[in-house]
Amino acid sequence: MKERVEVLISAADVDKRVAQMAEEIGRDYAGKEIFMICILKGSVIFMSELAKKLNHEVTFNFMKVSSYGNSTESCGRIKIDMDLDEHIKGKDVLIIEDIVDTGRTLKHLKDLLSLREPASLKLCTLLDKPDRRVADVEADYTGFVIPDDFVVGYGLDYAQRYRNLDYIGVLRFDEE
Ligand code: 5GP
Repeated sequence: MKERVEVLISAADVDKRVAQMAEEIGRDYAGKEIFMICILKGSVIFMSELAKKLNHEVTFNFMKVSSYGNSTESCGRIKIDMDLDEHIKGKDVLIIEDIVDTGRTLKHLKDLLSLREPASLKLCTLLDKPDRRVADVEADYTGFVIPDDFVVGYGLDYAQRYRNLDYIGVLRFDEE
């Protein structure tokens, strides 16, 4: 089987949309410092690009979560591999995700972080695959709604590869 990546969203379109999202977020958080939480590793590029376009005070924070299992599909349970190193009580927290698929990751994170009493807690995702939603969760900011395909690029990987593509592509497998 040979892998190839088909362009789904061009670099120019991603860049334009991220700029629009930064503008909207900047307006909503006027006068507030945003405690951004990047969900490693897939959201690194998205958070960096979004933050660069935000004319706003932000802090960078990181969490790593994993779902049990090893396929391209996440299963039910979520494990915190790396937690925040700061308290979020009273802070305006914005979770930055690369993609919402079943929604289990975001639902779990949202429930967990709400218990820590932030002043506000919102979700921002670059991509959304609503067809596969299982958990009752919706992002406050969504870049693109996409069909149920496995995508890579702009931080998203397949076996740790393709994260550095500047566009979003669909991974295809061809018979050799
Ligand atoms: P959820 O808990 O919403 O099912 O899964 C979210 C996580 O699954 C994402 O943060 C990402 O790591 C992974 N994921 C879901 N769909 C895709 C996809 O199309 N491509 C890649 N590379 N990862 C995905």
